[in-house]
Amino acid sequence: MPAIAYVNGQFVDFAEAVVPAEDRGHLFGDGVYEVVRVYGGRPFLLPWHLERLGQSLAAVDIVNPHSEHEWVALIGEAVRRSQEAEATVYWQVTRGAGPRSHAFPAGAPHVTLIVRPFTPSPASQATAVLLPDERWSHVWVKTLNLLPNVIAKETARRAGAEEALFVRAGVLTEGSSSNAWFVRDGTLFTHPADRHILAGVTRRFVLHLAQQAGIPVCERPVGVAELSFMDEVFFTGTTVEVLPVTRILADPDALFWQAAALPADRPATLVRDLSRARVLWERTGAAVSGVAEQLQKMFTQAVERFRNYEDVL
Ligand code: PMP
Repeated sequence: MPAIAYVNGQFVDFAEAVVPAEDRGHLFGDGVYEVVRVYGGRPFLLPWHLERLGQSLAAVDIVNPHSEHEWVALIGEAVRRSQEAEATVYWQVTRGAGPRSHAFPAGAPHVTLIVRPFTPSPASQATAVLLPDERWSHVWVKTLNLLPNVIAKETARRAGAEEALFVRAGVLTEGSSSNAWFVRDGTLFTHPADRHILAGVTRRFVLHLAQQAGIPVCERPVGVAELSFMDEVFFTGTTVEVLPVTRILADPDALFWQAAALPADRPATLVRDLSRARVLWERTGAAVSGVAEQLQKMFTQAVERFRNYEDVL
């Protein structure tokens, strides 16, 4: 079955799914979104995604066009129509369409929803590159404005890495599309869910798994200077689930990682050349089969229970 699209109140043929040229998502990135993973035909942790969607909408003052019940029904219907057991559902709510003018127009929000079959990446480990966190100050809102994230991911890809690990004022915040975790002497560290990171649904679930496993957790900012003391690093996210990191690269000439503020220079391109990047952190053999793998395994087991209609929380 091809991918499924729903635009403005109707399921449409994917090739016919178009949004108005004056949709504010298109003009300004004026909207918010969610992505949920479908396992065995069931959207995973959907109530938590809907909770965060409500927070994002409230943050940018867009009226939530649906009740939780309506969202659950709509997403369920889309998954059923797709006939996909393994999929992602992406949906966004924009401030609607209107003549291009910055101030909010009158009118209803627009919903666009896409179901696509999903095949997980065969890679069960990742390399990361340190990059400056040059995003705006409200990254906790899941807005459509992902240009810095997109540029960071492409910069990482060109450096042969899977993910960018952001640094803001000397602190490791999160990945370009994932949350970051660190392990030292069996204790988990992750940035608090404040305005400097997106409060990942997977992060929330992994906190729950860690509690179940009796793994101590410390939600506090981790400085770049602490990285050398960390035994393990991993990312979490809806599509990557739990992804252990084997090495972290950084450009030794780029001083952003220690700096309290971003440098004032204007680079010619934001897609930085990382050909001078060196290994800043590497996982040593001793840490293999560590906390990251334990949580990865617990996550997979929880998904199996979910596929079998058992409770995961
Ligand atoms: N941080 C950022 C910047 C992200 O884009 C994502 C993925 N949407 C995450 C963290 C992880 O969030 P989740 O676990 O809800 O997918």
